[in-house]
Amino acid sequence: MAGKVLHRGLPATERNQETMKVGFESAGLFEYDTSEELLVRLGHDADLVQSIAELARSKGIVAASFTAIGALKCAKLGYYDQRNHEYRELKVDSPHEMASCVGNISLKDGKPFVHVHAVLGDEAGNTKAGHLLEGIVFAAEVHLRQLKGPRLERKYDEVTGLSLWEVE
Ligand code: ZN
Repeated sequence: MAGKVLHRGLPATERNQETMKVGFESAGLFEYDTSEELLVRLGHDADLVQSIAELARSKGIVAASFTAIGALKCAKLGYYDQRNHEYRELKVDSPHEMASCVGNISLKDGKPFVHVHAVLGDEAGNTKAGHLLEGIVFAAEVHLRQLKGPRLERKYDEVTGLSLWEVE
């Protein structure tokens, strides 16, 4: 809102020169219908990311979004270095609450690919968060929503160095 106050009274042409993009702008909008929803309790000592990938493969799920809560015995979080285009790893070697976990499933190289982010809380309630590379389950409850629609495949994106969504 501060930007609007600053530009009040300026001619329209100058007002339009704001550098911040506002409003809806999308690099890709894909429309899906919701399908079957699954509630899954993951096994003790299983890796959360691998388990969800296996579930997707076994049930033929190629597009989905999910949330999960529970607790992890240990984890490996990733932080993407936007300048150098590489993930840095943060090891979490102690038990943590999985206070929040969100993710999606799409295709990468023709196979279901699971993208997960998590917020992990320690015994003092302090959190660590990031891209979940690995998470060893103490207990975990997953709510997965299958999506029906176009084939969603990840492709290498030059600008970010990440594999991002494209519809085939
Ligand atoms: Zn990520």
